[in-house]
Amino acid sequence: MKALVYGGPGNKSWTDVPDPRIQQPGDAIVKVDTTTICGTDLHILKGDVPAVEKGRILGHEGVGTIVETGSSVTGLKVNDRVIISCIKSCGHCANCRTGLYSHCLGDEGQAGTGWIFGHLIDGTQAEYVRVPYADNSLHLLPSGVRDEQAVMLSDILPTGFEIGVQYGRVKPGDSVAVVGAGPVGLAAITTAGLYGAATVVAIDLDANRLQEARDFGATDTVLSGSSDWKDQVLALTGGQGVDVAIEAVGVPATFAMCTEIVRPGGSVANVGVHGKPVELHLETLWIQNINISMGLVNTNTTPMLLKLVAQGKIRAEKFATHHFGFDQFLEAYDTFSRAAETKALKVILTS
Ligand code: NAD
Ligand code: ZN
Repeated sequence: MKALVYGGPGNKSWTDVPDPRIQQPGDAIVKVDTTTICGTDLHILKGDVPAVEKGRILGHEGVGTIVETGSSVTGLKVNDRVIISCIKSCGHCANCRTGLYSHCLGDEGQAGTGWIFGHLIDGTQAEYVRVPYADNSLHLLPSGVRDEQAVMLSDILPTGFEIGVQYGRVKPGDSVAVVGAGPVGLAAITTAGLYGAATVVAIDLDANRLQEARDFGATDTVLSGSSDWKDQVLALTGGQGVDVAIEAVGVPATFAMCTEIVRPGGSVANVGVHGKPVELHLETLWIQNINISMGLVNTNTTPMLLKLVAQGKIRAEKFATHHFGFDQFLEAYDTFSRAAETKALKVILTS
């Protein structure tokens, strides 16, 4: 088969590799019909994630059709259309039993991680992918949901909702600021309404992303490049600060911004993946009675979010800005990596 193979920092190719095979009884082989590219894939290509070895097939998002199941798979069968979750879960380890799929121990019983696709095992940017613990890691797709909607449920929608909105404890009537209006920030913006946020302020350096944010449910926007960005945010909350500040970029400056605009008693929910140390100013923050949260997505809310997408209550298709065939993989990467110019949110690749 063909796949997008990581060749070390700065190196990738769309090339021939062996087809995946069932290795464990709980595995399924899925023919990938639709996949996409994540900012994390760009991080890997920069060499920021050293656990990814040369020769690894990238990608942790996808929608496909089951072509083979291992002997212990009971809930799924050949020809089922499925969402491939970016997090695998065995369903029975101590962490999975509490819903903490992000730290699934698997049958190895070691300190584990749920994020393995395109990281520790071959991923979804390929014609076929092997999915471990298929019964728990795949979600059956109702026929009314299109691939380009469903693929947003692999990662970005549950990430924005779980690590931004839920960890941030958004409540009815709250004011919420989201710093970073990329796909993940937009997912937080669009799901903040599920818990009744009254004011949703999108903050970004890119005016185009702010324009998009309004379409995803932001009530107000603030350009973070402007010198009075903070005053603008405070003015929207009567000078108090926001109830919940969600960080969806992953750099020290944007985490600091969140701590500067949260009101006393509020919450800062960090969603961004940080590659550099971040200062935490406890000497000024301790007296603010704030809550700070962070984490890797669990994808435990994917079935709930899927129902809302199926009902048209979450318009997931709006994230899909560019479409490519699998033979245009390198072009798709190029378009996605120049998002400020190309105005790409999520690029859709279809086999
Ligand atoms: P992205 O790069 O597409 O979007 C980031 C946005 O932040 C862009 O619109 C950019 O213009 C904006 N930005 C950059 N610097 C800024 C600044 N100083 N002030 C305001 N805005 C600024 O990223 P994405 O795909 O939306 O992902 C966002 C983050 O979430 C990344 O760090 C990603 O790795 C992380 N992530 C976390 C999880 C998790 O489980 N916690 C899962 C997926 C992604
Ligand atoms: Zn587990």
